[in-house]
Amino acid sequence: MRSIKSTIGGWGNYPKEEAFLYRPEKKQEVADLLTSGELEHWISRGLGRSYGDTALNRNQGVILQTRLNRFLSFDPESRVVECEGGVTFEEIIDVFLPRGLFLPVTPGTKYVTVGGAIANDVHGKNHHVDGVISDHVLEMTLFLPSGEVRTCSREADADLFWATVGGIGLTGVILSAKIRLIPVDSAYIDVDYQKAANLEEALDKLAATNDQYPYSVAWIDCLATGNAMGRSVLMLGKHAEGKPLAIKAKRKLTMPFHLPSFALNPLSISAFNALYYGKFKDGSQVTVDYDSFFYPLDAIHHWNRMYGTKGFIQYQMVFPPETSREGLTKILQMLSEAKKSSFLAVLKSFGAKGNGWLSFPRPGYTLALDIPVRGGRSFVHFIKQLDEVVLHYGGVLYLAKDALMSPDTFRQMYPEWEKFKQLKDTIDPNHLFSSSMSRRLELTED
Ligand SMILES: Cc1cc2nc3c(=O)[nH]c(=O)nc-3n(C[C@H](O)[C@H](O)[C@H](O)COP(=O)(O)OP(=O)(O)OC[C@H]3O[C@@H](n4cnc5c(N)ncnc54)[C@H](O)[C@@H]3O)c2cc1C
Repeated sequence: MRSIKSTIGGWGNYPKEEAFLYRPEKKQEVADLLTSGELEHWISRGLGRSYGDTALNRNQGVILQTRLNRFLSFDPESRVVECEGGVTFEEIIDVFLPRGLFLPVTPGTKYVTVGGAIANDVHGKNHHVDGVISDHVLEMTLFLPSGEVRTCSREADADLFWATVGGIGLTGVILSAKIRLIPVDSAYIDVDYQKAANLEEALDKLAATNDQYPYSVAWIDCLATGNAMGRSVLMLGKHAEGKPLAIKAKRKLTMPFHLPSFALNPLSISAFNALYYGKFKDGSQVTVDYDSFFYPLDAIHHWNRMYGTKGFIQYQMVFPPETSREGLTKILQMLSEAKKSSFLAVLKSFGAKGNGWLSFPRPGYTLALDIPVRGGRSFVHFIKQLDEVVLHYGGVLYLAKDALMSPDTFRQMYPEWEKFKQLKDTIDPNHLFSSSMSRRLELTED
């Protein structure tokens, strides 16, 4: 099969690396490619919405999954859809929302593939109620490094199942998966807004409303300091009833080619955040379509032009409930002192931990931030300091957002790494599946 040598990045444009890209269209072509001996290492790539180097493979093979995107079966009784790994969440919504069905869990973008979502075991605004995507995956079919095609589930080959969900593409190619969809009455969400004057109040309000709303998220103004540190707008949502199952088409905005330098200026970010905070009235209610509620950033073409060495990087951590207040306060203080201003950051509460060995979500509070890269080496040093604070408070960083974590930090944050590596070395002794991330974290060798 023909390849293209190309420089690619994750959604965060950091790092960017050359790799050989292949785009198979059939299962057999995946098999031919992986047994061809053309390259030593391969990694799958969905829609490249992970920010760091999880779907990169410096000078090695990248298997683009986007043409392996067929729907295979659907059972209306059980609401279980079976599709190939390259089917996108957008496609699932387009096909099933008109039939009154929606995704059980969705990240903040619909431009992800089923394989990519499973390989990061993605979470949504409903983690406190519905868990991660793997909680709704019944079984998967994998192309293993040995060439065997195997189906795994909680019951059959459970170790392979739990290593693959959140397994950042290292156990093989997810050829297909069966996912149970949820019934919805409409394409709209009833949203209640609540304001919190500071972090303490935001965490209390999230905890107090968890039982009432399946979806909740708080947008934090990271630039507010003193008594207002962590002031937020909470958005609490439920599927609306008695509304249509379709929404109106919208025009998209486009991000300018280069991020204008004023956008990185702490004063303009502060003004933006203040405006945003002021826009919402405490206690107000609206009904919005699912696109506006779940995927506000999808409305802006090339949103990721704000990321990279001349812009921001994403950084997401979760702290356990008992250390969340202290840990989050320390992180917000460090950002403020370093003048590493961020646009609004996203705070969510997490429910129970899933069983994926390398899955990120676990009970507590998670914060996703955009941090400006300004400052060259001192920037990397700053991130390392943040990593230490996260570790100190028992927190964990999300691999889907990471490009800088050290192998040592990874092992401390993901104690099940050893179990994962043992299985990996058994099913893939030559590390046929290996990525820039897995080599950086020393899960695989060069
Ligand atoms: C605006 C935005 C908002 C986001 N919000 C959230 C959020 O709320 N919650 C959350 O959890 N994440 C969130 N994310 C991250 C995103 O959901 C994940 O990174 C997701 O995994 C991306 O899917 P993808 O198809 O683009 O996969 P890629 O980024 O291309 O790849 C991700 C991983 O999946 C592997 N992979 C891809 N396809 C396959 C396959 N067929 N078989 C085996 N492995 C495969 C790759 O090797 C890689 O390790 C967000 C990202 C963006 C850009």
